[in-house]
Amino acid sequence: MNLVTVIGAGPAGCEAALQLARRGVAVRLVEMRPGTMTPAHRTGDVAELVCSNSLKSDEPANAHGLLKAELREYGCFLLDCAERARVPGGKALVVDRERFSAEVASALAEAGITVERGEVRELPDGIVVLAAGPLISDALADSLARALGAERLFFFDAIAPVVSAESVDRAVAFPGSRYGAGADYLNCPLSEAEYRRFVDELVRAETAPVRDFEPARLFEGCLPVEELARRGPETLAYGPLKPVGLRSPAYAVVQLRQENAGGTMFNLVGFQTRLRHGEQRRVFRLIPGLARAEFLRYGAMHRNSYLDAPRVLGPTLAARARPGLFVAGQLTGVEGYVESIGAGLVAGVNAARLGRGQEPRAWPEETMLGGLLRYVATGPGDTRFQPMNANFGLLPPALCAGKQDDTVFSPTPGPGLPRQKPRARTKKHQRRELMVERALAAAREWAARQ
Ligand SMILES: Cc1cc2nc3c(=O)[nH]c(=O)nc-3n(C[C@H](O)[C@H](O)[C@H](O)COP(=O)(O)OP(=O)(O)OC[C@H]3O[C@@H](n4cnc5c(N)ncnc54)[C@H](O)[C@@H]3O)c2cc1C
Repeated sequence: MNLVTVIGAGPAGCEAALQLARRGVAVRLVEMRPGTMTPAHRTGDVAELVCSNSLKSDEPANAHGLLKAELREYGCFLLDCAERARVPGGKALVVDRERFSAEVASALAEAGITVERGEVRELPDGIVVLAAGPLISDALADSLARALGAERLFFFDAIAPVVSAESVDRAVAFPGSRYGAGADYLNCPLSEAEYRRFVDELVRAETAPVRDFEPARLFEGCLPVEELARRGPETLAYGPLKPVGLRSPAYAVVQLRQENAGGTMFNLVGFQTRLRHGEQRRVFRLIPGLARAEFLRYGAMHRNSYLDAPRVLGPTLAARARPGLFVAGQLTGVEGYVESIGAGLVAGVNAARLGRGQEPRAWPEETMLGGLLRYVATGPGDTRFQPMNANFGLLPPALCAGKQDDTVFSPTPGPGLPRQKPRARTKKHQRRELMVERALAAAREWAARQ
């Protein structure tokens, strides 16, 4: 079998390289650090975690935990390394980042993979896994754009939060588009008093610190909502929250736009933000209809390059215009360390399949990994496609019998002991449980067929 070139020794590239080696494929793994650094990396280590050392929840009932459970079924190398580098972190998988990189370096060495150092400026011929990350070097980004026939890579400086559809209070939020053009949006109406309170809290809320590499100058066309609010008390009411064209007496309206084909996720239109996650929950829940909003993705601001994946990638992560080119990691439009590792695993497995003359395969869509990659390949095209992390809105809905709210009581305690408080087990919980069971069963079956 031919050699496969993997570009980038971040979490995605390392996982891809290890999956290739496991399948007997010779790997050339190229990393530009430490000779050429990115604005965020600090070392020349492989699989450097650029920011937090948390790989998020490890509980399968949580979307991030489910993704990990699936990846373990597929024999993910980097999660094994993370386990060996684990430090106490409650329900999350938290690692000592240096130990984690050292474990990945050992795994690569054990697999006979040496890391070649140097910047790749042109996409090489042959089968390639491109895992150069959101801080891909400019020369390689240009070469990629030419190869894919894409006009450019997307550079977004801000992303808006996404909430689950089922957490929006439909007794308050009403459907409708401006000027009667359909009912594609959900609209959260604010009275004048509600608007003033919201703006007051928004301008006072705490923002996340700006890292060195981020542009000090904010782009006018993509201003964070809190920056707009600081320009004047009426700026939002005449901007993204203007109530016009909606046949509503509200003073201001927050619009929610459907985020995925299944209608399970909605984003807050015009709400790109730098607020800390806790502040997003606190302040955005002041919006009528969002009091119980479940945040599937938080708004964020940082430099972030990624492909217009729905246009250029298939669900196998092969480029539509060049089937021997697989893209992995955050560059595909997935967001997060474990999501990037998952995309690396898929790209590595599929690159090996192609090398053996087999068809690359799409992952089952009822799994978290499959749902994520399906979103990447089929999500909203053009400039509306934004990075996505693991969440239950990506999975097909699970139907379950029963009443709206089936309350399950804890077992009756012994005589003389107080009866325990009933533990509410709602239909939503049951649906989640079904989704988790279904995803894990599909992942096991998939792994058994590998
Ligand atoms: C500043 C920042 C902070 C983040 N914080 C978090 C966080 O806290 N938690 C989280 O879950 N996710 C976070 N992310 C998102 C994401 O999880 C990480 O970016 C993750 O590292 C992506 O993995 P990757 O392997 O795709 O890319 P990377 O880890 O960036 O790896 C890509 C590698 O390719 C190399 N490379 C680039 N161009 C070339 C070239 N031309 N030739 C050779 N090598 C090249 C780079 O040096 C790098 O080592 C953050 C992203 C950024 C940008």
